[in-house]
Amino acid sequence: MTVYDFAIVGAGIAGASLAAELSAGGARVLLLEGEDRPGYHATGRSAAFWEECYGGPEIVPLTLASGPYLRDNGFLRQRGALYIAKEGDEELVTQFMRRFVPTGASIQHMGRADIQKKLPGIRRLWSDAIWEPVCADIDVAALHARYLALAREGGTRLECRARVVDLDRGQGEWTIAVAGGETFRAAVVVNAAGAWADELARIAGAKPAGIVPYRRTVAQVRVDPPVDEDLPLVLDIRGRF
Ligand SMILES: Cc1cc2nc3c(=O)[nH]c(=O)nc-3n(C[C@H](O)[C@H](O)[C@H](O)COP(=O)(O)OP(=O)(O)OC[C@H]3O[C@@H](n4cnc5c(N)ncnc54)[C@H](O)[C@@H]3O)c2cc1C
Repeated sequence: MTVYDFAIVGAGIAGASLAAELSAGGARVLLLEGEDRPGYHATGRSAAFWEECYGGPEIVPLTLASGPYLRDNGFLRQRGALYIAKEGDEELVTQFMRRFVPTGASIQHMGRADIQKKLPGIRRLWSDAIWEPVCADIDVAALHARYLALAREGGTRLECRARVVDLDRGQGEWTIAVAGGETFRAAVVVNAAGAWADELARIAGAKPAGIVPYRRTVAQVRVDPPVDEDLPLVLDIRGRF
């Protein structure tokens, strides 16, 4: 039985990109996905915005570092983002600027007249905003497919319908059991199980990090007349939408 250098559990964007990078370096990589195709969960359902402030100031350096690769390879389409605030929310706008300006994110404070230009017809009660010009749509499907293709070219073995149910470490390597009874062996197991990372950690006997899978709700609204395709991403400064 092949002993892989790395067994990566989860073939979302995290697992696929890591498989591509590791196999390019010559490692023998096994990519195990519980669903019948890669990208079925968060990666396939993302709203797909490259938004510099997403995730908080600690994440901004990672987001900024990813920009050149994504832009140079045609995965981004610039749209811009607007964090909008109502009268009375001035302190939140100030706090937001204070938190994110030092990170190097491209944010600018914007007054009512400019908000109206970006969002024609917006109600007057939205009086303040923060404009992030470089926010972009990410072509997530293309990016994910590219990483899967690079992984394949590098010799990664992808197994779908391979939900890891047991992990046992003995004599310097892992024995990995998947639902259905098949087993694999690897020197290193990588937890790229997304929202189920804690479940996998428990199976491996590692300490869970407090990650809980949640459902999220998306409402799609068709309006007449249709909205301009180039409107910015619009976010409430209080984070409610
Ligand atoms: C509705 C929504 C909107 C979002 N919008 C944005 C956005 O606009 N911009 C942005 O940057 N991010 C956004 N995100 C976040 C982004 O989608 C995620 O951070 C990213 O996709 C996570 O990738 P991942 O590979 O870690 O997880 P996932 O894509 O969830 O992949 C984990 C994989 O692990 C597999 N797995 C789990 N347990 C096992 C097991 N035991 N055995 C085998 N396989 C297993 C799962 O089946 C899954 O395929 C959004 C997320 C959601 C849900």
